[in-house]
Amino acid sequence: MAIQIDGKALAKRVKEQVREEAAALSRKPGLAVILVGEDPASKVYVRGKESDCAECGIVSVSHRLAADTSQEELLSLIEALNRDAAVDGILCQLPLPKPLNEQLVIHSILPDKDVDCFHPFNVGKLTVGEAGFLPCTPAGVMEMLRAYDISVAGKRCVVLGRSNIVGKPMATLLTQADGTVTVCHSRTPDLKAITAQADILVSAVGRAALVGADMVKDGAVVIDVAMNRDGEGKLCGDVDFAAVEPKASYITPVPGGVGPMTRAMLMRNILTAAKDHQGLL
Ligand code: NAP
Repeated sequence: MAIQIDGKALAKRVKEQVREEAAALSRKPGLAVILVGEDPASKVYVRGKESDCAECGIVSVSHRLAADTSQEELLSLIEALNRDAAVDGILCQLPLPKPLNEQLVIHSILPDKDVDCFHPFNVGKLTVGEAGFLPCTPAGVMEMLRAYDISVAGKRCVVLGRSNIVGKPMATLLTQADGTVTVCHSRTPDLKAITAQADILVSAVGRAALVGADMVKDGAVVIDVAMNRDGEGKLCGDVDFAAVEPKASYITPVPGGVGPMTRAMLMRNILTAAKDHQGLL
């Protein structure tokens, strides 16, 4: 039986720490959240971020814009937030409605307010190991491994997925922690042959029941980043939890695993931005 990694409890601890440190600052950290349109999932995520900020003593101001907002209007809001000294972090909830250009938006947020760590400047800093902000989901995974004393050094790590927000930075952080990392994607033949060698398997694909017991080595650490809906509409990850759990040494549940940690790491990034803006870094 695997030990379940309790992302919820760990996220609570991270947020408590952020709250303590935020309270010690001369000015409360500030987050500006931009939500364009009516995407139901995005609305839920934004509400979650607002409540996390309230819990951590971070001032959050949400800007809810109509789905037909023009690119110019959106960019001019971001410019105003870039100039606003009370705003430490700016977060534009993705995906954006068409035809808005996400790349332009990511590029327009000042790197020192880019608490999602999506700006190419911050991605570059991450790659050379100088990161101020860490991308929230992969950083949350690393924090989980540390909290459970799971060493990465010398381990065979396999990451399923190569997106800019999860798979690639996940591979970077595992490499920096001295893991030997293989990244798989939709064009990888014979996935099973690779995943079955993993000491640490991180799945970030977005396909329910992709990872079955036959893909997992005995005693592997299995981290499930994905958030999917199963046939009954229930939230689930990529991993067939019931089948894999008896083989793994550690496993993250969905929900209650990586998701809460992603949210907590965002709070930590906002705190980092506030400290930076107050000359404390
Ligand atoms: P994404 O941009 O759609 O990337 C998915 C990746 O999976 C791509 O690299 C794709 O390969 C690869 N892939 C697709 N089918 C595959 C297959 N059969 N075998 C191997 N690889 C395959 O998704 P994302 O934004 O990285 O998110 C991935 C999952 O994590 C989603 O379920 C998302 O909801 C979840 N997520 C969770 C959190 C959290 O806080 N828990 C945060 C972010 C995302 P190609 O590159 O070749 O297309």
